[in-house]
Amino acid sequence: MANILLAHEPAIRLAFFGGMLGGMAAWETLAPRRRRAISRWTRWPGNLGIVVLNTLALRLTFPVAAVGVAAIAEERGWGLLNNVALPDWTRIIIAFLLLDLAIYLQHVMFHAVPALWRLHRMHHADLDFDVTTGARFHPVEILLSMGLKLAVVAALGAPAVAVLVFEIVLNATSMFNHANLRLPAGVDRMLRWIVVTPDMHRVHHSIVVDETNSNFGFNLPWWDRLLGTYQAQPAAGHEGMTIGLDIFRDPGQLRLDRMLVQPLVGAVGRYPINRRGHGDADDKASWIEPSALADRLGREPQPLIIDVRGPDEFAGELGHLAGARNIPLPELPQHLRDLDRFKERPVVLVCRTQMRSAKAAAMLREAGFRDVAVLRGGMVEWARRTGPARADVATRPR
Ligand SMILES: [Zn+2]
Repeated sequence: MANILLAHEPAIRLAFFGGMLGGMAAWETLAPRRRRAISRWTRWPGNLGIVVLNTLALRLTFPVAAVGVAAIAEERGWGLLNNVALPDWTRIIIAFLLLDLAIYLQHVMFHAVPALWRLHRMHHADLDFDVTTGARFHPVEILLSMGLKLAVVAALGAPAVAVLVFEIVLNATSMFNHANLRLPAGVDRMLRWIVVTPDMHRVHHSIVVDETNSNFGFNLPWWDRLLGTYQAQPAAGHEGMTIGLDIFRDPGQLRLDRMLVQPLVGAVGRYPINRRGHGDADDKASWIEPSALADRLGREPQPLIIDVRGPDEFAGELGHLAGARNIPLPELPQHLRDLDRFKERPVVLVCRTQMRSAKAAAMLREAGFRDVAVLRGGMVEWARRTGPARADVATRPR
């Protein structure tokens, strides 16, 4: 049995991958959990393209796969489980559990360590969540994980059959728990005691930092519960939550070439360990009084002023500040890229009062802008202080 499995490894894997992809895609169409935010046509070429690249990268880099290393270890008596007298089935179960724990811990590390997060965040930059998200990993992350997996397999002395079964099951569960499919709430509740369900894993793809940093399991749900990283549901609900990261909000980022360079683009952001608090939305230092702004205008370093009101408000009665750039709040995510060069420079956000500009400020800070302030009271306050006249030049407020 074991030999038959091992001899047909590539065919078995391909059949499982194709079967799961087709099955889950059909299920997603018949009973979707959420309305799609972005069409398959925009996302799938990149997500499936990276699968092809990863397969090639693995074949070219590693002469043997994990199963091969397990077979060699068995033959030469390497590793823990090849040196203890246990029945085969016990060794298979132990190996399966420990491999899953290793993958869980590796996933936690990829979130915690800033440089590793840069690689892993490409997986999270998908703006929607479906079966193809489960196969979308940066090639460098794939190669690093394979290196680590080979080392774990050898050190553990995991039986080759256990490794093959583990890899196939992990691949299948990863596609299942990324799928946009609807399960009855009761079924989900029962099922998530034995396997990570889509509702459980979707929490991990939330834009909210604490939610992203929970539910790391891809396969068995127990590690999250045992080790304290479990979160049952997203705060905004499954329909209301936002998928993805605060950077890479532009759908253009879903293209394969953009995906590949994402580890090198922009700041590391506030998701990994020791980056929390960089860009707290209600940071005290983030407000600027009209008089203080007036003092800063015309002096170096000149702040970039972004007015996030709609174009007709910008041109309207309250006027706008001289030199202000008008980027309406809903369009801000698409402009993050061309604002990149202002990341280290002072930026002041302006709107009618301060509601929209405060939201915009949080967005910019999350995207790694270091010096972002909100004009307190907005243009209403500015105009009040400068008098009833048009405020479209930086008249000094009283
Ligand atoms: Zn993750």
